[in-house]
Amino acid sequence: MLLLARPLFWLLSLLWLKPCGGGPMVNENGAFPDAGLDILRILAPPPREDRAKVSHYASGLVGCPRKDYFRWTAAPISNPRSESSKKKMEAGVLAHDMFSMRLHRHFDRHGEVTSNIAVELVDSRLEYPIHGYIDDQVDLQGVVHVVEYKSTQYRTTDRALEAPLDSGLLQLWAYMRAKPANHHYLVYEDRGSKLGVSYEVTEKDEQLFWRKNSTTLWTPVDLSWEAMIKKLVMIEKAVGSEEAPDRLDPVTNERYVAYLSKDGNKIQQTKTVDGETFRTHWMCMGYCEYRDHCWLGMNAAQAEEAEAARVEARAVIKKRGGKAIEAEDGKLSFDPGKVQEA
Ligand code: SF4
Repeated sequence: MLLLARPLFWLLSLLWLKPCGGGPMVNENGAFPDAGLDILRILAPPPREDRAKVSHYASGLVGCPRKDYFRWTAAPISNPRSESSKKKMEAGVLAHDMFSMRLHRHFDRHGEVTSNIAVELVDSRLEYPIHGYIDDQVDLQGVVHVVEYKSTQYRTTDRALEAPLDSGLLQLWAYMRAKPANHHYLVYEDRGSKLGVSYEVTEKDEQLFWRKNSTTLWTPVDLSWEAMIKKLVMIEKAVGSEEAPDRLDPVTNERYVAYLSKDGNKIQQTKTVDGETFRTHWMCMGYCEYRDHCWLGMNAAQAEEAEAARVEARAVIKKRGGKAIEAEDGKLSFDPGKVQEA
């Protein structure tokens, strides 16, 4: 009896496991194959390769034009992101996932919710499009609501509770023009306290307006779409001439500035001249990944590496008739036009 029981058990196991599809399968010896989950891939994913840009990012229309130039030209990253800042970014992505989940749960019964919709805006004055992803779209019986979600912390939350930030407004403005909808919202939510605010944003006669939590009062926005396009044209030209642009954002008039130590080898938080103290911009101090490259220049090895990458990119672009952009190794590069002569 015992002799019969064992084969019967394996037969039944096989019959039960087969229909499970993706479930564990026993091999011919009746043992479970030892194919564990590759959890490490999730715990420590390989670093994303930095690629030169091929479009303007809707999420980065506000900011230092020089930083954008470095991105476009795939300049070497001199100050990689710290682990804690990567975790913060990841927390932001997860916060948006949770927000989307809540949108789906709440509105799916009444309409249709779609997330991460790719949009592209082409402007005849620009050589390259503005590209981005709409966070969420809720279609309630033909009335379309577009939602851009931002998770915030500390000072950013305080500022966002007062008024929407320029970066989100311009991003939403680009989406409005690329994919018109009935309503557009900018939502900020604090990651810790979950305190949130929603702004509806609209455009009339080239002027952008916002109102808080669907009140009736509309506030005009001091931003110009034309100035933003001019900035992007300026960046494209800078890339074409391989000359880094000024450190002033012409859309917001914010100047990105750093103060160096006496020997010129270090960026300092502050510098006092004739009793007056000047402060390095927070972006140049601790956030920009190109800060040493930008302010201290490249060392010989970095310069050599950068030049080799440029020569390679030029060769690929030339081979492809001046059009960008994918090299054999998968790296993307920008077509600045003048590379034809290289
Ligand atoms: S270090 Fe400052 S000025 Fe230089 S690219 Fe970065 S943000 Fe711009």
